[in-house]
Amino acid sequence: PSVFNHLARAPEDPILGVTVAFNKDPSPSKLNLGVGAYRTEEGKPLVLNVVRQAEKLLVNDSSRNKEYIPIVGLADFNKLSAKLILGANSPAIQENRVTTVQCLSGTGSLRVGAEFLARHYHQRTVYITQPTWGNHPKVFALAGLSVKTYRYYDPATRGLNFQGLLEDLGSAPSGAIVLLHACAHNPTGVDPTPAQWEQIRQLIRSKGLLPFFDSAYQGFASGSLDRDAEPVRMFVADGGECLVAQSYAKNMGLYGERVGALSIVCKTADVASRVESQLKLVIRPMYSSPPIHGASIVATILKDRSMYHQWTIELKEMAERIISMRQQLFNALKSRGTPGDWSHIIKQIGMFTFTGLNSKQVAFMTKEFHIYMTSDGRISMAGLSSRTVPHLADAIHAAVT
Ligand code: PLP
Repeated sequence: PSVFNHLARAPEDPILGVTVAFNKDPSPSKLNLGVGAYRTEEGKPLVLNVVRQAEKLLVNDSSRNKEYIPIVGLADFNKLSAKLILGANSPAIQENRVTTVQCLSGTGSLRVGAEFLARHYHQRTVYITQPTWGNHPKVFALAGLSVKTYRYYDPATRGLNFQGLLEDLGSAPSGAIVLLHACAHNPTGVDPTPAQWEQIRQLIRSKGLLPFFDSAYQGFASGSLDRDAEPVRMFVADGGECLVAQSYAKNMGLYGERVGALSIVCKTADVASRVESQLKLVIRPMYSSPPIHGASIVATILKDRSMYHQWTIELKEMAERIISMRQQLFNALKSRGTPGDWSHIIKQIGMFTFTGLNSKQVAFMTKEFHIYMTSDGRISMAGLSSRTVPHLADAIHAAVT
């Protein structure tokens, strides 16, 4: 018998498993709203024109090779990534207080940050939002941190439970790590207002908690890269320390290229350089050094004024299509007279709507309408189109009546 005979079959990943089930469904009207990847009006994956253009430049440049890049990744990519999230004139960058390492997309950046904290930070507890992206608790727990939750979402209002958030962070032990979604909270689509962010900042700083931002959707929420980075910049502006994990999966459509960055903003340049030296010791035995292609695409675009500008236009188009899907779905439910208040669909922000549908209703919609989504009722607005909105609205209507 196999030496692995004792193994039980593991369950599918709750998010990626939705696509597995979708692929098995032969129905022509099937609709996958599970996975967080952008689709065009025609329901097709999108490669940005500016990405194609950058790739052509890279391929035609015969001086480029495939040598290993440094443990910390491409220097240009790292500098430009820090500027993108912290702002072009960030004093922290000018004072060399930021260390940035290229990592394997958002997930890899979170994991490297978590491993670093587990090894070198005195407080091993991390607070994550309730609910959050399903991978968060696993990434942090497997890195060796102890994971606790803080209240975030209020099912009654389908908005922020701000009081609960303040109470829970207020009673967190001093120094605890707090994971914050920089914008477009996943799965709820509910973000604090700027005034609420300011209160959260004051609480975190007064208690000496350590903020760790997950920025997976910069530019995707509002269509503006700067606006979506505001919460992070607010924390950096006060001179305090924080970590930021960036992903280029959504905002440049580079999902499978696995390109992202971890920045650690420190008090002094000397600390930042020692932090970087330790990050290398975390990364080297994990995957040695990151891949070259995706980061080269990003650096090419961020470096060039006109390509950067073109990117912001294409990014805005994606964000606006998602926002228009929200309005169309809301209108479709209104016109059907579907019972309930569906205004949260247009109030929530980013790729997802947290519909408020329960797991029974979700199962019904999958069985009767071949619509696939996670059992918590989260739908990816990016997977919808004008053509498929009526089908989804019919399904929701049937599920709640
Ligand atoms: N963080 C959040 C909140 C996400 O929603 C995602 C992707 O769905 C990620 C991080 C990481 O994605 P990736 O590793 O593909 O960059």
